[in-house]
Formats: sequence, structure tokens, C-alpha cells
Amino acid sequence: MSRPIDDLTPVIAAAVTADRRRALILVDRHGRILSWNAGAARLFECSAANAIGGDIARFVPIGPEVGAIDALVASQSTGEAADRWLVRADQTEFVATVDVAPIDRAGSEPVFALQIEDVTDRRAAAVSLERSEAHLQSILATIPDAMIVIDERGVIESFSAAAARLFGYTEAEVIGRNVGMLMPGGDRARHDDYIAHYRQTGEKRIIGTGRIVVGRRRDGSEFPMDLAVGETLLEGHRLFTGFIRDLTTQQEAELRLKQLQSELIHISRVSAMGTMASTIAHELNQPLAAITNYMEASEDLLRQLPIDTDLLGEAVSQSAREALRAGAIVRRLRDFVARGEVERRVEPLAGLIEDASRLALIGARERGVRALIDLDPQAPLVLADRVQIQQVVVNLVRNAVEAVQGRTVRDVTITTRRIEPDRVRITVADTGGGIDPAIEPRLFEAFNTSKEAGMGLGLSISRTIVEAHGGRIWAENLKQGGAAFHFTLESGAI
Ligand code: ADP
Repeated sequence: MSRPIDDLTPVIAAAVTADRRRALILVDRHGRILSWNAGAARLFECSAANAIGGDIARFVPIGPEVGAIDALVASQSTGEAADRWLVRADQTEFVATVDVAPIDRAGSEPVFALQIEDVTDRRAAAVSLERSEAHLQSILATIPDAMIVIDERGVIESFSAAAARLFGYTEAEVIGRNVGMLMPGGDRARHDDYIAHYRQTGEKRIIGTGRIVVGRRRDGSEFPMDLAVGETLLEGHRLFTGFIRDLTTQQEAELRLKQLQSELIHISRVSAMGTMASTIAHELNQPLAAITNYMEASEDLLRQLPIDTDLLGEAVSQSAREALRAGAIVRRLRDFVARGEVERRVEPLAGLIEDASRLALIGARERGVRALIDLDPQAPLVLADRVQIQQVVVNLVRNAVEAVQGRTVRDVTITTRRIEPDRVRITVADTGGGIDPAIEPRLFEAFNTSKEAGMGLGLSISRTIVEAHGGRIWAENLKQGGAAFHFTLESGAI
């Protein structure tokens, strides 16, 4: 017999009928269905008319025997009956939580209220969460880059296997701790400030971009790393994911490359002077020959009495001048081929240009080359490694001297100009045949030469040097004929 629903307290009645989300079913102690709400109809796909009066065991398999409901109630208290397989009207099954509670009504037989909630969706959500967690774990375990997820307070939430290898901490050791532990001291405080600043203002400094920072390993050693940070909002929580690449090996390779480059620059300097050895020897020979002449003349003067001290004095001081001239050539040469530390300093530009052009122009006058130096008094100082920039000037001037060979006008002009408040341009122009169009597109690349004995290294080395100084080097053919090579340098403070 079904019991009319209004037999129950009005509050339960209202809940039972109205709730579509949850199935609320009343049964008697034999399991007979007394009432069946909208939620039950929806969940079991069975109307109240078809359900009421029937056996609950059709939908909730609890066993047909009398007392089964009691068993269900009893099992409830142990918490075992949370999830059950239930059966819809069409015999398909689904998982739901079943709560059973007896409703005591004075003087009447006990009635049991079954509250049933479909957990299929919740289960699916849990499974998908589990899956995505497993997915995340597999990403964390295999991603070659170190990956660290932190929350908005900087607390580490995930730590990939590569991060563990890189920093020397296990995942368990860092989870829940502040990411500052992976940074050198000073950066830690700055990072907290940074996160606080971002939370307050939303102003990003690194999020969405990458930058090179320093990481700190468990053993306290520090290393350069490339850090890229992304931001996620997950259920109202802000998470930051950092991808980290160790730059140690890359920087070592760069350092090695720099060493090789400076070695090459040095070798090219030595070999440039080597190819000029005979002209240099000739250049040195001149003052030495002059000294010999003056000394012989002095010897003669000493033998003639009375000694002409004026003439003797003149001869001695001339020979001293020549000795100084020879000494200066040797000094410039020695400075030039010395393998010094590359060091940028504020250097007087005039002395640098004069020394370099004297070296490069050795023997040029004999070949009819006219050298003109035009220095801008507004550009007295540059920030440069003296020897390296001299090497650039030597390369350019020697090319210019070679370019004017066999021309009627053989002029090489070296000009300095202040082109911006903090920039100086140095130009070496000639009256040669101009730049060969076949060479021009790759003029500053190595091994690009139009000369039979050329190595094609001078301009490429010059470019390396100028660019390492933060300058630019370029060339042009001049309207009046000949070529001009320009490069810029930062001017030193005045
Ligand atoms: P190399 O002098 O050994 O050939 P460089 O790198 O100094 O090597 O020069 C590369 C090429 O650039 C030269 O072979 C030449 O064709 C061209 N070049 C350089 N300077 C001049 C110049 N002043 N006039 C014309 N061509 C030049």
C-alpha cells in the first residue's frame, strides 16, 4: 500500500517533491516504495506512478529479504554504503551515493528515507582530475627543461625531474617552500618584493618574457639560467610556471669562442706585421744608418783639433733623435703585437690613430702614397681597447695603401669626426679603384678576398673588433673614385 505523501510532515513533503537534483524516496521496512520525487523520476527514468508501490530492490539492489532495509541502515553507519551501483527502469546501471535514514513516527511503522545522488559526473571529474594530474606528473618527469610551478606567494607547487637534477633538490624537499631557496641571497628578497608588487599593481616585469638570471644549487654553487615565466589562473588561484634552461655550457662555449676569436685577432696582428717585416726592417735601417753616419762624423770631428764642439754637439743630438725614432718604431711594433688583456679604456684618439697609421704607412711614402690625417678636436677621447682599435686602423690603412697602388693619385685620408654627442666616426678613404662588386656583398665576411696573396681576414676581424666595442663598420664607394671605410666608437667622457 502506498502512503499518501501528505501523511508526512509538510517540510519533508515539500523537499521530497521539489528536489529535482536529488532522488528522495520513502520506503517502508519491507522495502516497498511509498513516495518517489521528481529527482527519483529523473535519476531512475521512471515515473512516480510506475514506481510507487513497487519494491525498492528493483532500483537499489539491497536484497529482497525482510530486514534488508535495516541492513542498509546499519551499513550506512559504518560508511561502507557510500557508493553503489543502482539500476534504472531500463536496466542500465549507474553509480550513486545512497543515504538511508529511518524516520521515526510515533505510533506508526518506521519509514525510511533514501537520499540518492548521482555521482557519475563527480566521478568523471575526479577521474579527469586524476588524469590531468597524472598527465602533469608525466610532463614534469620527462620535460627536458627544468619546470617549476609556484603560487602567488612564491611557494613551490611542482618541481620537474629536470629541475631536481639541475638544482640538486628532490621534489619532496622543495614542495611547499619558497622559491627564493633557488636564488642567490640578494635575489630572494627582491623576488618577494616583486611578487608583492605584481599582486598589488598587476605590473609584469618578467611574466610572459624571458630573461637571464642566476640560480643557486643545493650545494650553494650558482649558475646562469634562462628563465621564462607564464601565468595561469586556476580556480581563482594564480599560478606561475617557470621554465629554466641552464646556460652554463652555452656560456662556456661563448667564452671559448671569445678566446678563440681573440687568439685569431692576435695571430692576424702578428702575421700582418710579419708580412711587413722587410719594410719594417727597411724603416728601422734608416735611423740606424743615420746614427752610424753621425757617429762616424763625430769620430772625425774628435780627431780634428781644435774640436768643433758646435758641430759635434749637433751630430750627437741628431743621432740621439734618430735612435729615439728607431726606438719609437720598435715600441709601436711591440705594443701592437703584444698579447694583452682586452680592456676598454678612455684613450686619446689622436695618439691612437697616429701610432696605428705610422705602423700601417711604413714604406708607403717610398711608394708615392700621400697620407693625410684630419683629426676632429671635438672628438679627443674614445672608449676602446687601444691595441685592437689600432689593429682596425692598420687593416683599413694597409688595404687603402694597397688599393692606391698603380694609380696616378695615391692619397689615403684618415679622418675622425664626432657624429653624435657620444659617438665618433673614423674614416679611412683612398683614391684607389673602389670596391670590387663581386666582393662587396660579403665584404666583411672571412676569406673573401680579391687579392692573390690575400687571406680575406682583415675586414672580418675588424668587424668583430668594432662590434665588440658596440660600434658599426661599413664601406662605400666614393663618387670621385676610391673607397671609404667607416667605423664608429663610443667617445670617452670629456
Ligand atoms: P685581404 O686584404 O686579405 O683581401 P680584407 O678582409 O682586408 O682581406 O679585404 C677583403 C677584400 O675587400 C679585399 O680583397 C678587397 O677586395 C676589398 N677591399 C678592402 N679594402 C679595400 C679598399 N680600400 N678598396 C677596394 N677594395 C678593398
